[in-house]
Amino acid sequence: MDSLVITVPDNLFIPAESVSLDGAYQPGSITQNAGEYRFEAPLDWHITISNTGGALYVGGVVEGDAVTECARCLEDAYYHLTGEVEGYFLLPGSDRELTEEEEDEYETLGEDHVIDLEPLLRAALVLDMPYIPLCKEDCKGICPTCGANLNTETCTCNKDDDVDDMNPFAVLKNYHFDNE
Ligand SMILES: [Zn+2]
Ligand SMILES: [Zn+2]
Repeated sequence: MDSLVITVPDNLFIPAESVSLDGAYQPGSITQNAGEYRFEAPLDWHITISNTGGALYVGGVVEGDAVTECARCLEDAYYHLTGEVEGYFLLPGSDRELTEEEEDEYETLGEDHVIDLEPLLRAALVLDMPYIPLCKEDCKGICPTCGANLNTETCTCNKDDDVDDMNPFAVLKNYHFDNE
């Protein structure tokens, strides 16, 4: 597997210089929104690191296929994730002043000039994960009574109900209208 720990090349310390990199990322699994996403094949990533004057901007894409559990039927749900990678690193010794907003986003590049892409790639994937994963948009889920997967089976649980019991006017059926 390609290393996700990158030593920033010396030429990137010149403003407006940039370098493009790509590789593969195998996160194994990521747990998010109480669901576990598994990755059967490594994901592809492509990034560009640019010197924006006193800081490095890391931008790009990580994408690949994930499998998780459908929230309704508990079968496998497949997603192709495309995450937007974004990271900012202040150069050591930079006198660039950060706005309050920037302070939350920026890390400071260490004296070793090393950037670990793993947390950036992981954060990008998490942002593209659905809040409620489904195997398909109209998944019918599981019958709460018998546990049948209603996508592949039909059960008789609902059909056993006497429809008249659900109808508030059913009682009128047996009522004799004297005025008629
Ligand atoms: Zn489902
Ligand atoms: Zn049922």
